[in-house]
Amino acid sequence: MKKLILLLVLTLAGGACSKQQTEKISPSASPATAPATGPFSDSELQAFAALEPIDTHTHVFQSAPAFYAMLQKLHMHILDICVDDDHSVFQKNLPLEIKNALEVVRASAGNAALCTTFDPFKFKERGFTQAAIRQINHNFDQGAIAVKIWKNIGMEIKDAKGNYILPDNPIFGPIYKDIAAHHKTLIAHVADPNTLWEPPNPKAPDYSYYMEHPEWYMYKKAHPASKEAILRARDHLLEENPNLRVVGAHLGSMEADFGQLARHLDRYSNFAVDTAARMPYLMMQPRPNIINFITKYQDRLVYGTDLGFSPGKDPEATVKYWENYYARDWRFLATDDTLEYQGRKVQGLDLPQSILRKLYHDNAVQWFPGIVPEAH
Ligand SMILES: [Zn+2]
Repeated sequence: MKKLILLLVLTLAGGACSKQQTEKISPSASPATAPATGPFSDSELQAFAALEPIDTHTHVFQSAPAFYAMLQKLHMHILDICVDDDHSVFQKNLPLEIKNALEVVRASAGNAALCTTFDPFKFKERGFTQAAIRQINHNFDQGAIAVKIWKNIGMEIKDAKGNYILPDNPIFGPIYKDIAAHHKTLIAHVADPNTLWEPPNPKAPDYSYYMEHPEWYMYKKAHPASKEAILRARDHLLEENPNLRVVGAHLGSMEADFGQLARHLDRYSNFAVDTAARMPYLMMQPRPNIINFITKYQDRLVYGTDLGFSPGKDPEATVKYWENYYARDWRFLATDDTLEYQGRKVQGLDLPQSILRKLYHDNAVQWFPGIVPEAH
């Protein structure tokens, strides 16, 4: 068995959704413990590219030749997801964000597809629902294949009475119907890891995230909606829209309980989940258990990362960071290499090719029709 020690710094993206920071490149392992961090070796790259991988969860708003070259080298297709984030200088300007994402899609020569969103902060305005539908339909005409709702529904935006609005609020109902009528997919990033409702825990994979983003640290809020209430509302949405394909971002925010996630996948046939920014939670499971879980739900899991590339970021550093990240995830899923995560040894899952092909390609095509252009 090839023994590799990888220093995994996968704690960056705990629900970040576009908060990936390219400057936070993981430190190299010490020379004595070997150089398995970093980009793919030639043979690894060959095996990875042969999967025709698709990353269904990225946030790319800068157009750069080095970035497209990286996608082509890896045979990587990405779904470029827009989010209306009022805490981000760039992402609070949704029209500009969509414009930039469309530019990325156009310049990517078929390697990127668009997931649009609408502005939920306007929900009190007259004609909100119809305006949102007009906008997303326009984006469908421009090629968008999916629509995202984000955690600001449930964790940030409040109604006139001061209550957090939830994903099944009737004001959003016609929007979901419209997405289903257009045979597009809804990505639901609702709620966040359990740890954001709990006292600070330095051992949690998301610790650095909620320390850096107190705006999402629900434990410190006066009267947050409970995570259970938010997920119940998401489930209600699933029940009310059986013809709508829904992909729950970040393991559907059920990262800490794979039994709960399994029950949801059993119950809702219109529901799949992505792995974005939650690989550490897979690593924390006993190896046989997670192999069994992935094997059983091999048609319902889609690969995603939450990697980002925003205006102002350095293209070269970004490309390096992305490649390292993809290599890390792939070594965990596809090899039996020994990795190190937060001081703990983790053995790669060594999944069979048939399952890897589903996680990295087939399921993305199934759950996001149009994510790869037909000619590809
Ligand atoms: Zn995201």
